[in-house]
Amino acid sequence: MSLMTGEEYIESIRKIKMEIYMFGEKIENPVDHPILRPSLNSVRMTYDLAQDSQYAELMTTKSPFTGNTINRFTHIHQSTEDLKNKVKMQRLCGQKTASCFQRCVGMDAFNAEYSTTFEIDKKYGTKYHENFKKFMMYCQENDLTVDGAMTDPKGDRSKAPHAQEDPDLYLRVVERRPDGIIVRGAKAHQTGIINSHEVIVMPTISMGPDDKDYAVSFAVPTDTEGLLMIIGRQSCDTRKLEESELDVGNSEFGGVEALVIFEDVFVPNERIFMDGETEFAGVLVERFAGYHRQSYGGCKVGVGDVLIGAAAVIAEYNGAEKASAVKDKLIEMTHLNETLYCCGIACSTEGKATESGAYLIDLLLANVCKQNITRFPYEIVRLAEDIAGGLMVTAPSEKDFRDPKLGAYIDKYFKGVSGVSTENRFRILRLIENLALGSAAVGYRTESMHGAGSPQAQRIMIARQGKLAFKKKLAKEIAHVTE
Ligand SMILES: Cc1cc2nc3c(=O)[nH]c(=O)nc-3n(C[C@H](O)[C@H](O)[C@H](O)COP(=O)(O)OP(=O)(O)OC[C@H]3O[C@@H](n4cnc5c(N)ncnc54)[C@H](O)[C@@H]3O)c2cc1C
Repeated sequence: MSLMTGEEYIESIRKIKMEIYMFGEKIENPVDHPILRPSLNSVRMTYDLAQDSQYAELMTTKSPFTGNTINRFTHIHQSTEDLKNKVKMQRLCGQKTASCFQRCVGMDAFNAEYSTTFEIDKKYGTKYHENFKKFMMYCQENDLTVDGAMTDPKGDRSKAPHAQEDPDLYLRVVERRPDGIIVRGAKAHQTGIINSHEVIVMPTISMGPDDKDYAVSFAVPTDTEGLLMIIGRQSCDTRKLEESELDVGNSEFGGVEALVIFEDVFVPNERIFMDGETEFAGVLVERFAGYHRQSYGGCKVGVGDVLIGAAAVIAEYNGAEKASAVKDKLIEMTHLNETLYCCGIACSTEGKATESGAYLIDLLLANVCKQNITRFPYEIVRLAEDIAGGLMVTAPSEKDFRDPKLGAYIDKYFKGVSGVSTENRFRILRLIENLALGSAAVGYRTESMHGAGSPQAQRIMIARQGKLAFKKKLAKEIAHVTE
């Protein structure tokens, strides 16, 4: 099958009957739901851009397995060029949606699974790599969107999976059958699960021998029996029900997360990628997290581009764009954003082939990338709010603006420079509000903090990869220290 068009993607998701809940109700038609539709549109962009001749070279590539043209989101990286193109593609998607476009978790899970299953099979003679390759090629050929499910609810953070009071707080195997396994548990904060055809499940932390039942990885379709999704709330989400595209700020695009319950779900043998090989749980986590930390050096930068643009436009609309302090703030925002991009490109350029042949990013640099991501978008947002002025949070509603009596006052008193309508000023302010405090802030701010692991997770990796002993030796040599 060839690449799907955006419309074909939407219709393919419509056909999947997932069990989705929001505000205490079962959502029978998530595709057309006003709160959920923007998130579907963001994923759709990954299909639309692949069809656009201007972007096709970046968005698509040839599968080394089938020789067919595939969407880069389903690709296994074959070179450092591929790794760099991934970051560039993500920046583009961020620029076009100003939100989380969700499809990268699956891509990062793909690449982590590819090399890890290869290494498990080498050690144990298992068939996980073959299973995974078959699944991966099925996704490539059908141009599917795949959710990457790593984060368990985790209960008491000081306890290992097997030591939790409730054994289901980490997803686990509860039964092994000749034809497959039964799993129970949950995955929290699942980005784009309701817009995905399949979900890849991975363990969330390194594990010891006592956690054997928790060291499990597999893939199932999102309408598998026993899968249930509860949508997470986003700030300002019900504005999307008000039929005011102006008040939403970014009415077309958005992200979505859900708590996903696995209530005794059957996984057939051919869809299992790890079952009990505890020493490889940490390898899979480290690689998935590494790829995902690289990802943020693309996607958040693309969203940052939109925010910087919005700040520059509002400065112009306010008549402040020539002030040197404003110019300097825009320079600072650009400097921070491009620093993040440098990190994404650097960890890609320094990538190396794994034993499987697939390319892995430089893990130290990918962790530095994500550590910066936990900080710089906050500073970029702070500067955008500074430039925007208070109206970004005190502007009246579109309903008031459209009211003949109130609208006249609003139009008069909230006008900026001449030649720019008050409505356009409001549009840009609402976009900044959306990115700073509204539903896109989930993706731009808190996801920057916790997505792909909280800041401390990167610091642990930086400590491990930082070659401190080597650096101490350098210092002693220069200082002629003899011990
Ligand atoms: C918007 C968004 C989208 C996401 N999308 C996905 C997704 O698609 N797929 C997915 O699998 N996950 C996803 N995540 C989950 C993300 O990876 C986690 O939020 C992250 O790993 C942190 O886990 P947590 O939220 O449970 O916080 P916690 O682990 O509870 O961390 C909270 C704080 O406690 C500290 N802490 C935690 N444990 C310990 C300990 N043992 N000792 C000392 N300190 C500790 C942490 O360092 C942190 O400061 C997403 C998260 C967000 C916010």
